[in-house]
Amino acid sequence: MKKMLWGKTADGVEVHLYTLTSGKIEARITDFGAHLVSVRTPDRTGRVQDVVLGFDELAGYLQKPNGYLGAIVGRYGNRIGKGQFTIDGNHYTVPANDGPNALHGGPVGFDRYVWKAEETANGLELTHVSPDGDMGFPGVMTAKVRYTLEGNTLRLDYTATTGKPTVLNLTNHAYYNLHGDDQGNILDHVLELNSDHYTPVDPGQIPTGEIAPVAGTPLDFRQPAVVGARIEDPFEQMKLGRGYDHNFVLNGAAGTLRRAAKMTEPGSGRTLTVETTEPAIQFYSGNFLDGKLTGRHGKKYEKRTGFCLETQHYPDSPNHANFPSAVLRPGETFRSTTTLTFGVE
Ligand code: BGC
Repeated sequence: MKKMLWGKTADGVEVHLYTLTSGKIEARITDFGAHLVSVRTPDRTGRVQDVVLGFDELAGYLQKPNGYLGAIVGRYGNRIGKGQFTIDGNHYTVPANDGPNALHGGPVGFDRYVWKAEETANGLELTHVSPDGDMGFPGVMTAKVRYTLEGNTLRLDYTATTGKPTVLNLTNHAYYNLHGDDQGNILDHVLELNSDHYTPVDPGQIPTGEIAPVAGTPLDFRQPAVVGARIEDPFEQMKLGRGYDHNFVLNGAAGTLRRAAKMTEPGSGRTLTVETTEPAIQFYSGNFLDGKLTGRHGKKYEKRTGFCLETQHYPDSPNHANFPSAVLRPGETFRSTTTLTFGVE
């Protein structure tokens, strides 16, 4: 593990950049927002490239908006409708930052803080304490994410505790491009999802509450399918997402580590396999990237030059009693694990 001083926030807090190496792959993580900055992996000929979109300089992460490139998002990843929810009859409001809705924890989410970092065996544990009332959420929350690199697998273990009943949804928001981070779009990648159902959204991308079958829609990735093949399909949900930006309900029991997704880039042979204990995964095809962010190598991140696979609870769960609960109570410990395996075929 290598550690270097990377810079300072506007408030003068020191930020570090950590490099984990396993001999097979190299991952970089910063304590600012616990961002996954880079993952370097070989293709089938041994050519090493970065497959995670990111910035060379801390300034890239400090800027807003920054697309949440590589961030740990919290307290509530994805959207809460109108930023409003109720727990045990108490009403709470998170400031809106995505039209009328709250996205990724509100205007100042977990991605905007320097987390406390401790080195662990083959990894790094990052801790963030969010005060009672932070972005409107009740209870002091202590959230931890531990990154561990072993062989070609990067493992993320999340835990959280709270002082009052609250809601949470922690995920990593890395964008991947298995060609390499500066090598065009991801439309030729091939995706397989272990998901029979998804949660349709309204025009504000808030779930309607329905849990719909993927069968017969462009969201059916039960057999491997090319990402770009149906992305412009007139199916209404594809128009509402401006492409893929949907919550897929994972088959199998939540709480057990099971296959969620496999992405393959046939040209380089690179694969990314995602396993998780979470109930669902957001497949987002980078539809809102628009060339305004200049990433590594001075490359402008244009539309669909990266994809996200965010393991998660369903968006807006606090407002849908039929979705798995995202409530955490004092005395409980939230636990969640996701593994990212970078292979070649
Ligand atoms: C969401 C998108 C959103 C993006 C912002 C994703 O997790 O699904 O709707 O635009 O985050 O970076």
